[in-house]
Amino acid sequence: MIPASFDYIAPATLDEAMRALAAHGEEAKLLAGGHSLLPLMKLRLANPKLLIDLSRIPGLSGISQQNDKIVIGALTTHYQLESSPLIKKLSPLLSQTARVIGDVQVRNRGTIGGSLIHADPCADWPAAILALNGELRLSGPKGLRSLAAEDFFLGPLTTAIEPAEILTEIRVPVSPRRCGSAYLKMAQQASGFAIVGVAAWLRVGRQGRCEDIGVGLTGLSAKPFRARAVEERLRGNKLTPKLIEASASEVAAGSDPLEDLHASAEYRAHLARVFTSRAIQEAARKAGGRNP
Ligand SMILES: Cc1cc2nc3c(=O)[nH]c(=O)nc-3n(C[C@H](O)[C@H](O)[C@H](O)COP(=O)(O)OP(=O)(O)OC[C@H]3O[C@@H](n4cnc5c(N)ncnc54)[C@H](O)[C@@H]3O)c2cc1C
Repeated sequence: MIPASFDYIAPATLDEAMRALAAHGEEAKLLAGGHSLLPLMKLRLANPKLLIDLSRIPGLSGISQQNDKIVIGALTTHYQLESSPLIKKLSPLLSQTARVIGDVQVRNRGTIGGSLIHADPCADWPAAILALNGELRLSGPKGLRSLAAEDFFLGPLTTAIEPAEILTEIRVPVSPRRCGSAYLKMAQQASGFAIVGVAAWLRVGRQGRCEDIGVGLTGLSAKPFRARAVEERLRGNKLTPKLIEASASEVAAGSDPLEDLHASAEYRAHLARVFTSRAIQEAARKAGGRNP
C-alpha cells in the first residue's frame, strides 16, 4: 500500500521541531525510525499531512553516562543499544532486550524513543525500562518535564506524552556490582513482537539476599506493567528457586490477559508465570557472579 500524500520537513533544532509540531497540531507527526509510523501510514490508519523528521537534530541520539545514570537519546537505535560496550557493562538488560527486537533491519532503523511513544502492548522496550525504573524526559512548549516509566504507559498505543511534546531522552540507573538481569520472551514468529516478554533486574547483598528488584511485563495485558507483588515477595529475601517460583505464580493475578489469534488469555498467563520465574532465576544467577 502507498501512504496518502504528505509534506515533509527535517528541522535542524529541537526548537524548530517543537514550533512545527505546535503550529500543525494533530495534522503533524514526528518521524524517528519510521518502523511503526510508516506501516500505519501505508495501511492508511494514520494520515498525517506533515512529517517532522527528527533525525537531523543533533543530540537526540547517543548513549552516555552521567554520574549514576545512563542517558540515552530518544533517537538511539535498537542496534546502537544492542552493541554499545557502555550498555553491555553498565546496563546489560538494555542490550539483552535490544538484541531480540525484530530483525536486523528493524534494529538498524527503529529507535527506543519511537518504540516507547508508540506503546504497542507487545513491544519489548517498555518491559526493560519499567524493570530498570527508568525515567523519560519530554520537551514541550511549557519546558522540560520528567516522568517515571511507571506513569508513562496508559493503555494500548497510549502514553502520557502531550500532543506538542517530544521525547528527548531516557535515563536508567547504572547497574552496580552484584546486579543481574535477563529479558525473556515468547516471540511471534512473523514479527518478533512479544506474545509475552519479561524483563528482570535485581541486586543481591553479600548475604545473598535480594536488596532491590524490578520486574517488567509486556504482551500480557493492554499495557506493560511492573509486577509489584512479585517484587515485594522477593525483596529482602534469599532468592531460592522455591520462593522465585512461588512469587512468579502470582504475576498474572489481577491482570486482564490479552486474547488474540496468537495466544489465548490462559496461555499468556501461563507464559507470564514461566518467564517471570526463569528471568528472575537467570538474573539471580548472574548477580551471584557466576555468569556476568
Ligand atoms: C517487521 C517489524 C518487526 C518488528 N518487531 C518488533 C519486535 O520484535 N519488538 C518490538 O518491540 N518492536 C518491533 N517492531 C517495532 C519497531 O521496534 C519500531 O522501530 C518501533 O516500535 C518504533 O520506533 P521508530 O523509531 O521506528 O518510530 P516511528 O515509527 O518513527 O514513530 C513511532 C511513533 O512515535 C512517535 N515518535 C517517534 N519518536 C518520537 C519522539 N522522540 N518524541 C515523540 N514522539 C515520537 C511518532 O510520531 C510515531 O507516532 C517491529 C517493526 C517492524 C516493522
